[in-house]
Amino acid sequence: MASIHFVTRGGVQEMDILIANLQSQLFKWPRTNLNVCECGQHKNLHGTDQIPCKEFKGRVEDFEVQGKLRPIQFWEYTVPVESVPEVMFYLKIKGTGDQVHDEFLKKVAWPYRKMIGLKPLPKYDEKKLIIQKRLIHTDFISLYGLGVKYDDIKDFPQWGYRQEGI
Ligand SMILES: [Zn+2]
Repeated sequence: MASIHFVTRGGVQEMDILIANLQSQLFKWPRTNLNVCECGQHKNLHGTDQIPCKEFKGRVEDFEVQGKLRPIQFWEYTVPVESVPEVMFYLKIKGTGDQVHDEFLKKVAWPYRKMIGLKPLPKYDEKKLIIQKRLIHTDFISLYGLGVKYDDIKDFPQWGYRQEGI
């Protein structure tokens, strides 16, 4: 298979239609049968007196395959600083970059991390986490922890609180 890479910018509703269209397309996929000849006979019969065709040549058969649409996306998930380890736990991220051994993601992700000036994701002790009962689906998704950006904790007199910026 060949992967076509592209970048998009568009309204959400147009993007939804593009995504639905792309992921519903079927494509002709030719494969050469290693056991059945163009003449229709099995490979093992060639070179015997049982069939006239002497030279085996694999039969090309057309299959159908669905185009696989895989967005490569950068995400930012803003939560209180105290909840960072919990989110990492649910996303199965142990620390910066160590969750999935996906060489492709690693290559595209690290320049982004440097560009944005992210700090490394903290190490945490799973046993010390207070686990909420959240359901966060991460199966079949390569998820690569990039880093974290912290806001300053300061006084916000207009709200009457000292807190993180939001
Ligand atoms: Zn043949």
